[in-house]
Amino acid sequence: MPAASFLKSAAVPRDFPPDTGREVAFVGRSNSGKSTVVNAVAGARKLARVSKTPGRTQLVNFFSLAEGRRLVDLPGYGFARVAPDVQARWRRSLEAYLAERDSLVGLVVTMDIRRGVTALDEQLLRWLTSRRALPVAILLTKADKLSRSAAIARQRELEAELGSDFELVRFSAVSGEGIDKTQALIERWLSAPK
Ligand code: GDP
Repeated sequence: MPAASFLKSAAVPRDFPPDTGREVAFVGRSNSGKSTVVNAVAGARKLARVSKTPGRTQLVNFFSLAEGRRLVDLPGYGFARVAPDVQARWRRSLEAYLAERDSLVGLVVTMDIRRGVTALDEQLLRWLTSRRALPVAILLTKADKLSRSAAIARQRELEAELGSDFELVRFSAVSGEGIDKTQALIERWLSAPK
């Protein structure tokens, strides 16, 4: 995969780059390892740091891979110390993006393998699948925190819980597990005919 470069941050849909070409977006609960995944997959260390800057966490961050090919770091959800009205506003911008973005061709959802599917993850997935048929990969992050056999068992449990609509991938930025697989998935989504 080509190295990504930062394109722009947007707080509201009118600031999004033109909705042409193809995008793959990343979303996940706060602390699920989303920024780490964006960095590992896009191959540049400082990319997702942008989205970690305090006050910028609610922004949608766009990265360019090639002409008309983008990666999008969406706002995390479930921040413990953020007021409910602010969370609701972030959620609306996330939903506006997910519901309306034509160039979106695939979504990567990060979940801590130990934590599994939280209520917020379930809400998001249910809402999304009721709206549009979008390929979704679920990365079971921090897989290095479990033994290999425990991680595989956990994946099976979560597959049973989530059903067959989603592709689950064990992922660890520490061991490198799942990076190639995730990159291959993204490349496939970005190049397949719409
Ligand atoms: P975000 O809030 O979803 O963007 O999560 P971050 O990428 O900032 O990661 C949250 C915490 O989990 C940080 O302390 C990371 O160092 C840690 N973390 C992320 N990915 C991994 C991983 O693959 N293995 C381990 N052991 N820790 C990880």
